[in-house]
Amino acid sequence: FRATNQHSTFPTLTCFAPTLLQQDTRGGLWDSVKKAAFVIGSGILFLAAFGNSLTWHLQKVWGASGDFWQKLWTRLYTTFEGHDQALFYFGAMLVPTVVFGGTNALLMIVDVTAKPSFITRYRIQQDKNNPVLAPPHQLFLSLPSTHLLLITLSSDEPVGEPCGPELPTFHWALIELGAFALLEELFFYYSHRLFHQPSLYKTYHKQHHEWTAPIGIVCIYAHPLEHMLSNMLPVALGPVLLGSHLSTTCLWYCLALVSTTVSHCGYHLPFLPSPEFHDFHHLRFNQCFGVLGILDRLHGTDSKFRGTKQYERHTLLTSLTPLTESIPTSPRKDSERRVAAVSLKSLRGSQYSSVNYGVRSIHTAR
Ligand SMILES: [Zn+2]
Ligand SMILES: [Zn+2]
Repeated sequence: FRATNQHSTFPTLTCFAPTLLQQDTRGGLWDSVKKAAFVIGSGILFLAAFGNSLTWHLQKVWGASGDFWQKLWTRLYTTFEGHDQALFYFGAMLVPTVVFGGTNALLMIVDVTAKPSFITRYRIQQDKNNPVLAPPHQLFLSLPSTHLLLITLSSDEPVGEPCGPELPTFHWALIELGAFALLEELFFYYSHRLFHQPSLYKTYHKQHHEWTAPIGIVCIYAHPLEHMLSNMLPVALGPVLLGSHLSTTCLWYCLALVSTTVSHCGYHLPFLPSPEFHDFHHLRFNQCFGVLGILDRLHGTDSKFRGTKQYERHTLLTSLTPLTESIPTSPRKDSERRVAAVSLKSLRGSQYSSVNYGVRSIHTAR
């Protein structure tokens, strides 16, 4: 069965059971290596050709506001003078928590009231969460573990000189953010796939998948172990490994937290990153495991996704017309999807037993 076949290409399994690997799996892996070489090679060529002029233009834009940010940082730095640990808590914990909490509070109002309609019209799964009937307190139970983890991460002795008096250059901050995103993709993809192994799924990852049509706050609704290894570690790894400046770390944590909220929020809003990819993961379970989609493409774990309407809609929306209107689901596809849903239901029944029982009943109880 297909889900298991896909998992057999998972590198962790290849370490433990090389004899199980068939010729086609090896072919698949070789294919992945070739594709990876192509992607990385093209990236290097692109950077060599356009990188300098691109960053030069961005630097010019930054130059105008660079002084402003340096002055702001200097003021903050002198305010906290001699209290680096407190400054570190402020930048790596308090600011990202406030940004995350604010974004989710606004989304929660929309979810619970199903208003205003100029936002709800962008709902991806139109028949779900209209409004959200599941008690949000269920979600907030996961907050203490998140908080505990942030404290643990923040109280670690910072590597390098994260609270230095000078901000990093614009180029360096940009390079670091790119590196953080790649590291997150790498560690999130493989740890997430690991948690989809049947032996681990039921205990650690099923909780997160109770929501087949997720909302913003669901991004931290996870078992503490999963949350630590699969959600927090891939994000925190970059700044720790690179000994990044607190300003870059703070910006990255805010970006990562808002980005994961958007990818779960259930609305494909204009001028924001597309949440279709991860929304599809919650809908179908065995597709779209990563963040950027690079490793899913290389491992073929987005093959079904690429044949769907959701994939056609997986783009930056630059107009005010919802993508469900500009790219409507055809009636034929609808019936196909119902058949697929029935077969998927039986598939889940056999692989994951009682997966998704709780929230499915809440969704359909309307
Ligand atoms: Zn998952
Ligand atoms: Zn999720």
